[in-house]
Amino acid sequence: MTAGGATRTITILGATGSVGASTLDLVRRNRDMFRVVALTANGNAAQLAALAREFGAEVAVVADEAALPELREALAGSGIAAAGGAAAVIEAAARGADITMAAIVGCAGLAPTMAAIECGKAVALANKEALVSAGEVMTAAVARTGATLLPVDSEHNAIFQCLAGNDPAHVHAITLTASGGPFREWDMERIHRATPAEAVKHPTWSMGAKISVDSATMMNKGLEFIEAFHLFPVGVEKLRIVIHPQSIVHSMVEYRDGSTLAQLGPSDMRVPIASALAWPARMDTPCAPLDLAAIGSLSFFKPDEVRFPATRVAREAVIAGGAAPAVLNAANEIAVAAFLAGQIAFTRIVQCAEDVLARGLPTPPASLEEVIAVDLEARVRAAELMESVI
Ligand code: NDP
Repeated sequence: MTAGGATRTITILGATGSVGASTLDLVRRNRDMFRVVALTANGNAAQLAALAREFGAEVAVVADEAALPELREALAGSGIAAAGGAAAVIEAAARGADITMAAIVGCAGLAPTMAAIECGKAVALANKEALVSAGEVMTAAVARTGATLLPVDSEHNAIFQCLAGNDPAHVHAITLTASGGPFREWDMERIHRATPAEAVKHPTWSMGAKISVDSATMMNKGLEFIEAFHLFPVGVEKLRIVIHPQSIVHSMVEYRDGSTLAQLGPSDMRVPIASALAWPARMDTPCAPLDLAAIGSLSFFKPDEVRFPATRVAREAVIAGGAAPAVLNAANEIAVAAFLAGQIAFTRIVQCAEDVLARGLPTPPASLEEVIAVDLEARVRAAELMESVI
């Protein structure tokens, strides 16, 4: 139960993914704290149905309508409603659970996340691409509806915790830590030849394929830089990135008096997810506390933006503002998919994003519909660019 003793309702968008599984693991271990309203997936009907039955969800939704017959069949006799299609995912998000975990991968999660925000309740945000694309539109919706946006990304959750009780006006700098990814020590030639199997093998975190590739290119840190810009409005000049291969210090906030507050923890997403789910209280997780003596030493390095230009490209996009972050995100999604399909070289991913940005920017989007239009247009441009290099 929560600190107040009441059971909270929860919806999990992207329930069959990596963050979805970690979230449901915590719900499973704390059954009296939560009642599941809706669980969603893209096409993984069998796993979604099993989860919906296990957690007694009210409704299970697949975004891919072709998977709906299988979902219906798997839920027959359970009393759990089944639905399909992108609009049905948005409707599930709009049911207004006390807390919605936004854990769909990519900009596909934007409209459902916005629907949850419109309910004015708590939204735990893992889906960084949604905030990167819709920055001002999403933060304005949060302010208008009074929704509480709880960062789930381990870095942003760390910063959120380090800012608690402090006046942002006293912040000197916010430093995001980055593991550096699996290719941190590789030379350019080897990075260029990196395969999808090598790129998804992250040294410290177990994650879905897309974010793993983003970690390997360092675009994940670039997207997180933009995410931090929107979540913690201290100004882009106060945002920093440092490489920290052990992924123990999840990020830090430096204050004007010389104090640096950092949040440390094991590299297990259940820690930041638990922090968001229980906020402002705390809940148990199965994660053992850190044994710093056993860890021994922690190291920190400057990022190398020659071998890994993604953070520079993202910083330039956030400074350019307007449609640039949405274009960057869309082009990156297309390029990552092409890389995973074996169609382009690893180093083409960030190059593609930069090339699409260089082709000129559309008018800054002022509504959800306009963000989606910018996203779609950038996808078309990125796909054309891919065609020309394949
Ligand atoms: P996964 O690929 O593991 O899971 C993605 C989830 O989204 C699945 O449930 C998938 O359904 C669903 N999905 C995919 N495409 C669509 C679509 N078009 N419409 C609706 N649902 C869709 O991703 P992760 O869990 O790794 O990441 C989720 C988000 O969280 C990402 O934005 C990522 O950047 C962020 N994040 C992830 C972390 C991690 O440790 N994994 C850490 C911090 C942030 P199906 O199974 O049916 O395909």
